This record gives sequence, C-alpha cells and structure tokens, in this order.
Amino acid sequence: TKWVYSFGDGGAEGSAEMRELLGGKGANLAEMASLGLPVPPGFTLTTEVCTHFYGNDRSYPDDLVGQVNEALAATEEKTGRTFGDEKMPLLVSVRSGARASMPGMMDTVLNLGLNDRTVEALAASADKRFAYDSYRRFIQMYSDVVLGIDVHNFEERIEDFKDERGYTLDTELTGDDWAELVHDYKVIVERDHGAPFPQDPHDQLWGAIGAVFESWMTPRAITYRRLHAIPEDWGTGVTVQAMVFGNMGDTSATGVAFTRNPSTGEKELYGEYLINAQGEDVVAGIRTPRDLTEAARIASGSDQPSLESAMPDAFWGFRSICDTLERHYRDMQDVEFTVERGKLWILQTRSGKRTGRAALKIAVELAEESMITADEAVLMVDPMSLDQLLHPTIDPEAKRDLVATGLPASPGAASGEIVFSSEDAETASNQGKKVILVRVETSPEDIHGMNAAQAILTTRGGMTSHAAVVARGMGKPCVSGAGGVRVDYQNQTLTASDRVLKKGDVITVDGGTGQILAGSIAMRQPEMSGDFGKLMEWADQARRMRVRANAETSIDAETARSFGAEGIGLCRTEHMFFQEDRIVAVREMILAGDEAGRRAALAKLLPMQRADFVGLFEIMKGLPVTIRLLDPPLHEFLPHTDEELAEVAKAMEVEPEKLRERALALHEFNPMLGHRGCRLAISYPEIAETQARAIFEAAADVEAASGETVEPEIMVPLVAMATELVRVREMIERAADAVAEERGKRPVYTVGTMIELPRAALQADAIAHAAEFFSFGTNDLTQTTFGLSRDDTSTLLGTYTTTGILPNDPFVTLDRDGVGELIQIAADRGRETRPAIKLGICGEHGGDPATIAFCEEVGLDYVSCSPFRVPIARLAAAQAAL
Ligand code: ADP
Ligand code: MG
Ligand code: MG
Repeated sequence: TKWVYSFGDGGAEGSAEMRELLGGKGANLAEMASLGLPVPPGFTLTTEVCTHFYGNDRSYPDDLVGQVNEALAATEEKTGRTFGDEKMPLLVSVRSGARASMPGMMDTVLNLGLNDRTVEALAASADKRFAYDSYRRFIQMYSDVVLGIDVHNFEERIEDFKDERGYTLDTELTGDDWAELVHDYKVIVERDHGAPFPQDPHDQLWGAIGAVFESWMTPRAITYRRLHAIPEDWGTGVTVQAMVFGNMGDTSATGVAFTRNPSTGEKELYGEYLINAQGEDVVAGIRTPRDLTEAARIASGSDQPSLESAMPDAFWGFRSICDTLERHYRDMQDVEFTVERGKLWILQTRSGKRTGRAALKIAVELAEESMITADEAVLMVDPMSLDQLLHPTIDPEAKRDLVATGLPASPGAASGEIVFSSEDAETASNQGKKVILVRVETSPEDIHGMNAAQAILTTRGGMTSHAAVVARGMGKPCVSGAGGVRVDYQNQTLTASDRVLKKGDVITVDGGTGQILAGSIAMRQPEMSGDFGKLMEWADQARRMRVRANAETSIDAETARSFGAEGIGLCRTEHMFFQEDRIVAVREMILAGDEAGRRAALAKLLPMQRADFVGLFEIMKGLPVTIRLLDPPLHEFLPHTDEELAEVAKAMEVEPEKLRERALALHEFNPMLGHRGCRLAISYPEIAETQARAIFEAAADVEAASGETVEPEIMVPLVAMATELVRVREMIERAADAVAEERGKRPVYTVGTMIELPRAALQADAIAHAAEFFSFGTNDLTQTTFGLSRDDTSTLLGTYTTTGILPNDPFVTLDRDGVGELIQIAADRGRETRPAIKLGICGEHGGDPATIAFCEEVGLDYVSCSPFRVPIARLAAAQAAL
C-alpha cells in the first residue's frame, strides 16, 4: 500500500480529489503544488495510516518507515537541505488534517528538526536571536502537544527571566538570553518528562506523527465529531512540510486572507498579517495584526502599513495567486501565507466560511463572473442561511445588554414594551405601541396577542412549542423555553438572575440567537435586493416541485405572495374563528344544544367566513388555495372564565349554568385523539356544509368581480377511513348543489384529504377513490406514528436527541424511516387508484430542507410551509431537483 504522498516543486502525487485519503489540508497542498504555486515541499501520511494505527493496537504498517524516509529524502532534495544536518538543516512542520476541518485535533508543531547542533547552523544562516527564539518555540510546542508538559512552566520561566534582567518586552531578549532560556527549558522537560528533550530529529518526527494520530481520539475530538456527525473511521492525515520563516526579520511576514469578504461577500481581499512573525502569532492576539490592502487600512484608520505598501511585490504576487486559487476551486478561499525574506509561500487553502449574507452574494457573483453555473450557485447556498436575510437582525456593531437566554425559536429581532397577556398586547398595539408578549407558554387563544406583538418570549416549551410554531408561521421573532426567566403574572414582572423588569419596560428579543436584551437596539433591515432575487430566479428554473404557503390571514397571504408562494397549501379555518368578533358566535355554535341552535350561530358566521375567503382568493389571483375544514377539538374554543361564559349565555339567551354543564360535557381526556377533524363534520354536518357554502359563495363572488377563475381545493382533516371522506364529500356536494341552484352556476372545486393518521396512509388506495388530492399533515402523522405528543415531550425529545436515541427532532426534520415510509406507501397506493392524484405536504416539515429533499424523492407535487419559509423552500426544492 502507498501510505505516503509527496508534493512540492511544481508537482505532487496527490490532488484535491484525494481529500478522503489525504485530508483536506494535504489534498489542497498537493493540488497547489501541481498548479505550480509556491508551496514548501513535503509529504502527507494518509488517513489509512490512522485507520491502521487504531485497527492494530496503535502500531504502524511495516513499510511506513521506509516510505517516510523516502519522502523525506525527496523533500531534502527539493530544498537542498538535510534533516539533522549541521550545516544546512531541514526543518519541518507537522500538521494534522482530517477530511473535514476539525478543531480539537492536535496543534501544529513548527520548527521540528532543531536541536543543540542544528540551531547553530540556523544561527549562522540568519542570526542567533532568531535561531534560539525558534528553538525555544519548538521545545515549548513539542513539549505541550507531544510530551504533554504544561506550557505554564515555560511561560513562568520567561516571566521570571525578564524580571531578573529588568526587561518588560520579549523583544528585549537577545540571542544569548534565548539561548539561556533554551537551556532552562530543557531542564524543565527533563524534570517533568523524566527524560531529556529528544535531540534526534527522527525521534522528534515520529513523536509528532504519533501525537497527531493519538489526537484523533482525544475527548475534545470525539465530542466534536459527535456534534458534527463526522464518522470515527474517517481518520486524520499528517502532513510533514519544510519550514519557511516569517520571522526572519523585517522582510518576512505571515498572514491569512479571504479572497472575498466573508461577512459581506464583497469582492475584496480581506485579511491580516504581521511582519516578523510565525504561525499562530497572527491569531494569538499578542500583537495587533495589520491590514492587507491600502483600502482596508484607510477604512480601518490604522497607522500601521498595509502589506500592499510594506511589501508590494509579495502583495501583488499573493493577490494574483488568490485569483488563481478562486478560479481553480471556483469558490471563495481562505488562504494562509508566509513571506520569507521577500519570497512568498502559500501554506494552506480551503473554502472560506461565510455568513448567509456573504454566501448569497458570493454565489451570485461567481455565477455572474462565469466561474460557476447558475445551478452551481443554487447548490452553493445553504437554504437555512436565507433565514438570517429575511428578517430584521440586530446590528452586529450594537452593544448588547444581556438579560437572559432561551431557545432561538423563530428568527429575527424586535424591540418593544413588555406585556404579559394577549389582551394587553392587543390594547397596547391598538394604541400604536410596539410590544413584546411575555408568557410562560402560549395557547391557541393567544393568537391575537401574538399577532399584535412584535415578538414573543416564553419561559417554557421547546423549539416546536405552540409559541415557536405559531411565531415562525407569522414570521415573528420568538425566544422560547427561557428557563432562567421567571414570569410573575400577579405582579406583572419578569425576573432573570437579579434583574426585575416590569410591564412597560423595553426589551429586545433576538430569535436568531435566543438572547433577551434590555432596552431597544439598532436593527438591520432585511435586504431582498438584486442578489436574492437572482438566486431565487435560478432556483425557480431548477426546481420541479411547487412551493405553496400555509396562510389564513390576508397579511400572511400577501407575505407569501411577496416571497413567491405559488398558492396556499393550507388555510386553517379555525384560526379565523379565534378572532375577537367571532369567538362568541363560535361558542354559541359549539354550546348550542341542537342543530337548530347550531344553524342559528353558523348563520352569523357564514358571512364572516365568506369574507375571509374572498380576501384570500383576491390576493391569490387564481392560484390554488387549499382550505381545510374545521379541525381542532371543540373544547379549544370553550369559554374559560365566568365572564366569557356569561357573555355567550347572554348572546344565546340561556342560563350560564346550563352552558357550564354543556361545556363540561364537551371535556375530553385526550382531545388530540378525540372529537376533532372530520369527526366533527360527521357529528355536526351543518358545520362542514356552512364552511363549504362560504367557500363556494366566496369563489363565485370573486369570479364575478375579477373574471379570474377560482377553483378552491377543499381539504378534509383527520380522515382514517375512506367511509368518513365519502360522507363528508356528500356534505360538500350538497352545499355545491345549493349554491349552484342559487347562483345559476356550478362551483368548480376539488375535494381531498389530509393524510395524517397511519391508517389513512395504509388505506390510501381506498381513500383515493374519494380524494382528488392528498396533503401530508406531517405534524399529526408524526405524533400518531410515534405515539408522541409534540406539546408534551419537548424535554423528552431533548434527551432523545442528545443521547442519540433519535438522530434529530422528528417534528423538525421528517423521520424518513417511519413516517417517511408511511408517506411513500400512501403516495404509491394513492397513485394506484388515481394516477394523477395531486400530492403535497403541509406540516411544519414542509419548510425543512432535509424533508423537502425527501419530498422530491417521493415525487410530491408541492410543499407548503409558513410564508417566511417560502424562499428557503424554493431553494431547497431546487437543490433537491439538481
Ligand atoms: P491549523 O489546522 O490549525 O490551521 P496549520 O497546520 O495550518 O494548523 O498550521 C498553523 C500555522 O502554522 C499556519 O497557519 C502557518 O502559519 C504555520 N505553519 C504551518 N506549517 C508551516 C511551515 N511549513 N512553514 C511555516 N509556517 C508553517
Ligand atoms: Mg491552517
Ligand atoms: Mg393535523
């Protein structure tokens, strides 16, 4: 087996494609060497050596030593230096490099090969100070990462030494001083390690190689891999590379650069450098790094020269290499470089990490520069990162006065006065105030308060709690589960650690980070500018699936349209029932003792419902609108306080006590599995008939007024049996017949069902006889498939995901294995009966990129998600199709 791959001097045995074998760093060094870029020569031990090491009691393959010696000899030849030589010693760095960049692995060891004799050669070729400074750095690094000696020992020794001599700065130490310290360092090593510091460069080399492989299994590295789902058996590579020195005086330097600005995406070289410095000095923060370009220096107001003015040759050489690298890798690069006595060397390149904003700009501009195709640009942007761009965010420069932290449940940030009830939220908002609704948790009755508030903060509940789900749907910032905050409704205060805030105090909620901040803070408004529009256009060209939105209100529908929704996939009629002007009539309907009473109440609701649908149809201008019949258990609408009960009793002209009895009779132990969905329609056909009538009348009105055709899709929830759907369909048809008679024109519409119960999925062939479309209600389908209540198990799910019982929250990302199989079965069986059946998804999952990829595999016709997720879904659908 070939275990070692050499590179340098215009050629390499490896290449960028060999990332799995050589690790990211080694593969890119090889690639750069082949491109003829100035890369110090060296060689990489493959990740297979690491695998062998752990598979064989931490031992190496037999032929490894031979291959390393051969590669070392080749490196010696390329540099004209010899490892351990007393005149022209080769010094190397030993660097770790996994396939995925992985902090938590061994730190790089620099200057390896120095010993008491080679240091003298180095001193002769440069100067003594530089040579002994390098030697002591090497002893310190090697002792730290290979021998496991506490670096504290060395740092303390330097401080004592400076005190003894009356120095304050490291730069005051002379070559002789460093030489004396090297002596002291070796004493420390011998004392703590029980053996002298290794003088043989080969011992040093194998010590460092072993330490890199060992570091694959440190707790830090193991934790990092677990958090980032990096498999254990990937292993790390080790790169051994000839040293170049950025610390050889004032014509030497070291630095890092991004080929484009990683936070804005602007096309400009962005980075830092230090003169007369080595390796980690730039990031260590001991000296303040300088700007690379003159433009950046002027912008930052620094009086320290830029690389552009201090070392123009090196700078322009570096700039042109950055262009080459970008064009070669066809992506923004993060590049490490060193200048040794005026000569430029490149030490690393990789794709640069970037913000969502930068990702978008870079992808679009690379495509416009014809470096990548439009499809590649679409694939380059993480759909979830668009989330940051669609909402106002806190100005990154602004000062944050942190009060507490909760879960980042819905992105965006907003400031406002604290209110503790939905009533107060509505009142204050009607007075033109901006408010933040603070609750222990929210329930469906809080919708109006949430709607009135700028943002929502809850102390209980997880990422899929009511508050979180509804806030995301509304596109409002929400922090949920802020366990460190105590809400006192009685005294209208919230307490976090020692701070007490009252109603009316201003706070800022940052739903992107989960932070709760005191006062109001400068915000940055979302930019739906050219780049965004362009990427969306390319995404729309690439995708097959349609993207719709879940929307009830005109505001939601307008938002959805502005984000490019191609219809409404779920209009939840019950949300319309909670509005203040209707709830009494809704309660009358529910609490009525007989059909006549219900019809009387429904007659009041009919014009309101019709007006709702007219509003939606007008906004959607002929695009499909799926309207779901009433779904929740009736008890959710029941009056809770005596006051509310009295109000309904008065409207119905009955005794409050009679009503109370009726309300008690409607109580359910397990309402989510109780009297809800199509079961309501079966018990009270007049409800479904009235809703259907409102839909048909609204469609007819809008058609008459606009000339646009409106073909509503009526969706029946919670069907388990085909017979249920057949029955409800008859009710809808009765309403259609009645409207046809009255208006002289038959409504055109389709009837379909939610697939949200396992039985429905299995019976999809039978159900499809009565359904023109299926919409997968994956929230309920997940609950009923797992037998897990989403509202009651957020802590349990936390345990399940952190301990690996579940790979992720199945209410966020669809469970492919179980729920996904049911969806596949339902799609297959539904198509058997009705090949052209329209299939969609309307659960929260409809806006999750991983779920959208699954929907593409199943061949759904569309996904439907909350309006603010529409752009994310458009991009994710495109990526799934490409
Ligand atoms: P990391 O993976 O943490 O970035 P690297 O292996 O890139 O670690 O090493 C860190 C720094 O050490 C580099 O940025 C570079 O400045 C310096 N370095 C590594 N190898 C060499 C070398 N052969 N010559 C000079 N400096 C080097
Ligand atoms: Mg690096
Ligand atoms: Mg449901």
